[in-house]
Amino acid sequence: MPDKTTIAETTTLRDDCDLETVLAAWHAATVQLEQTHEALREEVRHLTDELEQKNRELARKNRLADLGRMASHIAHEVRNNLVPVTLYMSLLRRRLSEDPGSLGTLDKIESGLTALDATVHDLLHFTSDRDPRWQSFSLGRLVEEIVESLAPQLSAQSIETVLDVPADQTVRADRDMLRRALLNLTLNALDAMPDGGTLSVTVASTPRGVEIEVADTGDGLPDDARQRAFEPFFTTKCGGTGLGLAIVHRIIEVHGGHVTAANCPEGGAAFTLCIPTHALEAAA
Ligand code: ADP
Repeated sequence: MPDKTTIAETTTLRDDCDLETVLAAWHAATVQLEQTHEALREEVRHLTDELEQKNRELARKNRLADLGRMASHIAHEVRNNLVPVTLYMSLLRRRLSEDPGSLGTLDKIESGLTALDATVHDLLHFTSDRDPRWQSFSLGRLVEEIVESLAPQLSAQSIETVLDVPADQTVRADRDMLRRALLNLTLNALDAMPDGGTLSVTVASTPRGVEIEVADTGDGLPDDARQRAFEPFFTTKCGGTGLGLAIVHRIIEVHGGHVTAANCPEGGAAFTLCIPTHALEAAA
């Protein structure tokens, strides 16, 4: 029979073991709790960042909507007032047909009015807020149409065109909107090559959708333009409206796609429109 001392020692030993196990379990639970707590904190940080980003995006969209309403109002007012001014101009031109000096002045006024009309036109496009009218059409034909319409300017500026569009490539999109987007990119490319160069339009079908790249061999995007090119009213051109790329951005956005701008390693700028497959399927 064990004596009392042995029993007491065994009991103390077991108590120590139990305490150690409890302490180890407590420690493990504490570590796990800390890890869970840190993971939760990380998740909250991530969700807060996401919320802030969404709030910023919403504020930007609201600002643009206000800006759009104001711009649309002004554009309509200006356009309405331009109509009688243009009419009086042609009357005046007839009366002054014998006076070359006055006719020269009239030409200057007229070119100012034409520039104003182009700005109003851009503003109205920027503010028009309609859903795309989906239809299937040949992308090659659309690109040819745009290049043909600019043939006199292309040849005056000695710009060569390289079109790489598969003959059977069709796309489902709003034709008028896509035409406007591609025309804006092409006109920018022409502006970037006043002394000649090459305009390339390349179309590729990828698993993500249809990608259309418009590239030039100009000086490329200046540093600030790389950050801000798609902002409405951002322009580095004397007489530019800064609305061309904002219109492109909006058009591609309503198609569920995206547009990117980059400088090519060999020089020049390239803009890529991507119309995603899911948007094409949804519209089918
Ligand atoms: P705008 O042509 O009236 O300036 P955009 O919105 O079309 O308005 O273009 C904004 C700016 O982006 C231009 O002023 C220019 O700085 C830059 N940009 C656009 N396209 C090109 C290009 N192909 N090459 C170099 N810079 C470009």
